[in-house]
Amino acid sequence: MRRGLATALVGLAVVLSAGCTPSRAPAAASAPSATTPSTTTPSPVAPLVTPTPKPSRAPVAPKTVRARPKATEATPTYRSLEKTYLVRNKIYSAGRVPAVTCELPQIELTTRKEVQQYASAVLGCLQRAWKPVVERSDVAFFPAKVYAVNAGSKTRCGILTKELGGFYCSEGSGIYLDWQQFVEDDAHGREWAGVYLQFTIAHEFGHHVQQLVGISPYFDDRWAEATGAARLEQMRRHELQASCFASAFFGANQQTLDLYYAKLQAYLDAARSGDDDPPATTPDHGSRESSTAWAEAAFKAKSPSACNTWAAPAKRVT
Ligand SMILES: [Zn+2]
Repeated sequence: MRRGLATALVGLAVVLSAGCTPSRAPAAASAPSATTPSTTTPSPVAPLVTPTPKPSRAPVAPKTVRARPKATEATPTYRSLEKTYLVRNKIYSAGRVPAVTCELPQIELTTRKEVQQYASAVLGCLQRAWKPVVERSDVAFFPAKVYAVNAGSKTRCGILTKELGGFYCSEGSGIYLDWQQFVEDDAHGREWAGVYLQFTIAHEFGHHVQQLVGISPYFDDRWAEATGAARLEQMRRHELQASCFASAFFGANQQTLDLYYAKLQAYLDAARSGDDDPPATTPDHGSRESSTAWAEAAFKAKSPSACNTWAAPAKRVT
């Protein structure tokens, strides 16, 4: 059966799957890139109950500039439950993400302890902001956790390699980050490092929201069934949506995060770059054009209502 197959693929997918961090800004010393999706255990009726390993993306040094593939499905077609959970999910009508009082520690980001402390504070803001939205989608909210770990660490979704950089693992609802990729350096000062870390966690938390509201299990199925360009398109719908959710949070919390001037620019760099900047080897997170369009719409709407990537024509998820 379809679900059985999808489940059987989980183990393999977990082994192969990469983490999923958004691209670094153009000037970044280490280049990000993309990877394979991961899998989640599908739970048709009660999507929240069984979280499983989930993939994301991996920062890999981009070596080639790939030609963007032609869009495959002009109008996606969906089965009944896929329509319910992907296209008509209640999250789209759950209203705005609220502004929360988000107090982030004024610390340097140079050690693992500091990255963990800052990441935990960012996660706290995300949970408080998304909890009411998820609950208005008629599902229970469960918190996620964030772990600043060394590259090479074992997680419930496999090893966090340096190439992966970070990912969301639905088993245990954990966000794992290779902390060394988030420390400030000569090229990127404290503000850039802080906002880049914020955006990364907000993107990974977007995957947590997708898991909570039942989107990810259906994405996993569609991803497992597709091949080639069609598979990458499914992946982009999923990844663009996670970043779109992140931008809804940033739009709602621009003031509380003091997202102006250099910090606003850092956010825009992170939100817009997608697979193009620097060029990723696999076009699975969305072009600069698509990333920018979804980010701007969500930032303005401050709501996941602007993030229905599943209903969008293929040209909007390039
Ligand atoms: Zn991702």
